Amino acid sequence: MQVYNGKSVFGGIAIGRIYVYGKGKKQVKRERTQDPEAEIKRYREATGTAIEQLSGLYEKALQEVGESGAAIFEIHQMMLEDDDYRDSIENIITTQSVNAEYAVAQTADNFASMFASMEDDYMRGRAADVKDISERLLAILQGTQEQGIRAKEPVIIVADDLAPSETVQLDKDMVLSFVTAHGSLNSHTAILARTMGIPALVDARLPLDETVDGMLGIVDGAGGMIYIDPDEDTLTRMQKAREEEQEKKELLQTLKGRENITLDGQSILLYANIGNVKDLAMVLRNDAGGIGLFRSEFLYLEREQFPTEEEQFQSYRTVAETMGKKRVIIRTLDIGADKQCDYFQLEKEENPALGCRAIRICLTRPEIFKTQLRALFRASMYGKIAIMYPMITSVKEVRRIKEIVEEVKRELDAQGVAYGNPEQGIMIETPAAAIISDLLAREVDFFSIGTNDLTQYLLAVDRQNTALDEFCDIHHPAILRMISLVVENSHKAGIWTGICGELGADPELTKEFLAMGVDELSVSPGRILPLRKAILETDVSEYKKNRQKNW
Ligand code: PEP
Ligand code: MG
Repeated sequence: MQVYNGKSVFGGIAIGRIYVYGKGKKQVKRERTQDPEAEIKRYREATGTAIEQLSGLYEKALQEVGESGAAIFEIHQMMLEDDDYRDSIENIITTQSVNAEYAVAQTADNFASMFASMEDDYMRGRAADVKDISERLLAILQGTQEQGIRAKEPVIIVADDLAPSETVQLDKDMVLSFVTAHGSLNSHTAILARTMGIPALVDARLPLDETVDGMLGIVDGAGGMIYIDPDEDTLTRMQKAREEEQEKKELLQTLKGRENITLDGQSILLYANIGNVKDLAMVLRNDAGGIGLFRSEFLYLEREQFPTEEEQFQSYRTVAETMGKKRVIIRTLDIGADKQCDYFQLEKEENPALGCRAIRICLTRPEIFKTQLRALFRASMYGKIAIMYPMITSVKEVRRIKEIVEEVKRELDAQGVAYGNPEQGIMIETPAAAIISDLLAREVDFFSIGTNDLTQYLLAVDRQNTALDEFCDIHHPAILRMISLVVENSHKAGIWTGICGELGADPELTKEFLAMGVDELSVSPGRILPLRKAILETDVSEYKKNRQKNW
């Protein structure tokens, strides 16, 4: 038996076979060859395979998303057959006597930078496509292609790290648990695992080889452990723990339908965070009072090109209709930082977390923003949608957003398209926004505090960097003071404040948030019933009398 410690992302116990995901990804090395002809032959065969795969993907996409959505796979096939691209690869192989992998990687870099430097938007857009087709070729040449999860039954996914775009594409029904060797607790992959409500660990530092792959594994999410090839005793002990946990979960189910009200009569809204329409099942199962954060950027991350207005409209409408009279807060796209999306063609940045992300993209590329706003305003006819804007730092940004919203409404009016009247709020996730929350409160209908980013920007600790964990005090007095200030300022202006960052689900702070007067907590669906239990057992006035305030 091998045992590794990781950081707990979500509790629960999973028992099943381990599947090492992305096992093959290798570095491309430059290797000399005596036989360039053979390398050219390998490259041509790989091209044939890639074209076959792409034509399969084209057919599948045609059925699922129609002609325009499928077109990209056709373009990729043509690009693989492009004379210049092929000549460059074959030239590098022959003139330098090197392996096909190196020639493909080199050509990809050269072509991508050439496209990226072009004036024409369409041509610049080809840089991502060149990288994409080259990665496909490399995976075929290296025999490392990951084609989803090839397992007969649900598995424990073990990976080095997972990008949000990889995580959204996994078939969730096949995943019992996630364990990554690296990665941080605040990463979006961790957040996705929480939304799915499955046991998950990050930073478990385990090997990704045959000593792990295919073995029986046990993930103890709360305990932060993964056992590989467990001995009899451990297996029996953990099976028993899993049963007990199941019983506890069932007990929590009895809290469904109850109000979130403290012993002394203070109530609070408990909403759910989601990233996808598919997460709605978890929302309903856990009796959320609404959706406090729909991370709409996942609609963009799971695609190869911009989702159309119609595609977005359908998703927002489904969520709004499913939730009926309950509020659904949809956050406009928060692409950038760790959520990279190739077709956005974002400039490479030294400090992406301090770079062009979220509302900054929307304000500099209003055509993308307007498409999303049109879809949101149209969908708000079908339920209680509220729109939320991320990464705000100034009143000026909010005013600019309002101007764009007015333009969108005028255009819809001119076209005779019906739309609703959604509430509009902002995320408070930068120190600047928190400090001027009195001014911002006059401009919007509500605030939602994004403690994940607020923590990273307040403490100057990169949320992705695990090496800084000891400096990341999530209960730092500066964070609690900021939250309290924002709540106070919002109430003075007659609007409400929620928390949608991960801190909202921290059971050590539930009483404190109630004492501050936080109006809403939006958490992963699986955290709602445990929080309701804590709220039902709290007497806020008693707590206020006795607490030793340390912030
Ligand atoms: C946050 O920053 O707290 C938040 C909720 O947004 P995200 O985690 O998606 O950046
Ligand atoms: Mg954020």
